[in-house]
Amino acid sequence: MASNRGQTMTKPLSRHDLRTVHDTLLACYGPQHWWPGETPFEVMVGAILTQNTAWSNVERAIQQLVAANHLNPEAIATADPTTLGALIRPTGYFNIKARRLQGFCQWYLARGQREALMEMPTVALRRELLAVKGIGPETADDILLYAFARPVFVIDAYTRRLLARLGITRGDEPYEALRALFEETLGANVALFNEYHALIVRHAKERCRKRQALCEGCVLAACCQKEEGITAS
Ligand code: SF4
Repeated sequence: MASNRGQTMTKPLSRHDLRTVHDTLLACYGPQHWWPGETPFEVMVGAILTQNTAWSNVERAIQQLVAANHLNPEAIATADPTTLGALIRPTGYFNIKARRLQGFCQWYLARGQREALMEMPTVALRRELLAVKGIGPETADDILLYAFARPVFVIDAYTRRLLARLGITRGDEPYEALRALFEETLGANVALFNEYHALIVRHAKERCRKRQALCEGCVLAACCQKEEGITAS
């Protein structure tokens, strides 16, 4: 598909402007160097722990897992649940997340760990991830993109909000429809998907916030379809 790079965005935006939105954000913020994790396994653990919590809390939990020599699948799978829960307590819902981590690691070990899983086609791997208790589409796609380098676009609340404000989507589309929108429009491109998701998170946290969005000076303001009253919602 031809890129819109270098073109000026005009109202209204459509799915065909997705590449230009990426390029505009990249020019504004620069490369984000995601995912913030030392190893693929750490990325997987981080993707589970980041559910419903800030990344700073995940970092504290990861540090505690490392300090306790528990940041490996065998240690997590066989850990005493209370001990594991205490180590990841900063991320909240720690008892639930301890069970999720243990279930994930038991599956991960049974399936031969990353080396064996890398051989699996993306559709099959995604199906298996989604079958692990507590792994939903966003977590599965975080793992697929950032730990397995698969061309799967991650959809989160930030992505949903930005696309709706830009007028590309309504905002209430199903997860899979939004994922297909990116993947079919941009083509399979791991590096692009990696950077794009990270840029959306950066933009949403710094400027396109749920409440009191900082629209003045936003690089996307000229084409944004934001409604009046957005800052008060
Ligand atoms: S103009 Fe405002 S609502 Fe639109 S993308 Fe920028 S920050 Fe978000």
